[in-house]
Amino acid sequence: MQSRRALLKTFFSLLLAGIGSAFASLFTRCSAGASHADSILFCSGTKRENRRDAAKIDPDFEPAYLKLHRSGELKKRGKELWDMMESCSLCPRRCGVNRLTGEEGFCRASSQLEISSSHQHFGEEQPLVGEGGSGTVFFTNCGLRCVFCINWEISHGGQGESASIDDLADMMLRLQKLGCHNINIVTPTHYSPHILLALDIAAAKGLRLPLVYNTCGWELVEVLKKLEGIVDIYLPDFKYADGTMAARYSSDAKTYPEITKRGLLEMHRQVGVAKPAADGLMYRGLMIRHLVMPNRVGGSVEVMQWIAEQLPKDTYVNIMSQYRPMYRASEYPRIARRITREEYAEVVTAAKKAGLTNLDIQGYPWEVPD
Ligand code: SF4
Repeated sequence: MQSRRALLKTFFSLLLAGIGSAFASLFTRCSAGASHADSILFCSGTKRENRRDAAKIDPDFEPAYLKLHRSGELKKRGKELWDMMESCSLCPRRCGVNRLTGEEGFCRASSQLEISSSHQHFGEEQPLVGEGGSGTVFFTNCGLRCVFCINWEISHGGQGESASIDDLADMMLRLQKLGCHNINIVTPTHYSPHILLALDIAAAKGLRLPLVYNTCGWELVEVLKKLEGIVDIYLPDFKYADGTMAARYSSDAKTYPEITKRGLLEMHRQVGVAKPAADGLMYRGLMIRHLVMPNRVGGSVEVMQWIAEQLPKDTYVNIMSQYRPMYRASEYPRIARRITREEYAEVVTAAKKAGLTNLDIQGYPWEVPD
């Protein structure tokens, strides 16, 4: 009887491991196609954590923020961003609410930091994952709020716990100790003051991992300039080419294309083209994600053409195929289904025709055109 039970236990463990692997090619962030629950499913287990006790990165690598930490500039920038919460203009919503007195703007964040989770994540782009995983911190709330958000419980629903800046610094250090190759802050914009102040504390205690700014792309240049010399890797979405689509599916954000384009140019100016190092890991650069949506809602061809015309041809672009109609997407007929093979192929072809050479193409389950 005992051995039968043990056999059944082994069978179900293997089954769960298989399900985990099936999700392993998915990515973080609300529109990116992987839910927070998915990543928790195979990232919060202790087995992987127990296998590693120190980050494995190039020992000669020094993250950008370390210099500014030593000079005191990192803390100063954090305080400058903090002051912007008095009449909040940290994101293009420019709500003007006083978050320092507890008011909440469109993103529903006050000055109290809220975090949904932090863990090793093995579903990001391979140069970020390596063997030790990406050290992901999911922040609660969001200023963009898409109707198809796959992490809507966190971004719209406020799922998460209050945390102090010291807590966040400790999380970063714990992720380093677990062997993660970077600190990957997901939906960071509305908590950027807290992140910089936590980074300053963590740097003093020995944090040496590159910082990945994992954003929806809708970022103000004046805020990005405060991040210059701090962020090592920008990981923005470029979701829409058309403001009408952005307004319809992302809470009236009709300025998304123009603001995101300016933001991408600024990000590139700061960190340049992303190329993996000899060890296969990414340490610096701009990594753009574009999620192909049904019925050309994202304006994908135009997105590829803009990148090819305005940024170097070897700009890293991840063309993502995993759109799923989550949250309220079923209420909008044009986005109420997954994409077709033809829709994905059209975007890949357009990217290649435009001359882009550094493409991350997710063939599965699609046939990738030459
Ligand atoms: S960060 Fe939040 S409160 Fe501040 S401008 Fe954006 S949506 Fe408004």
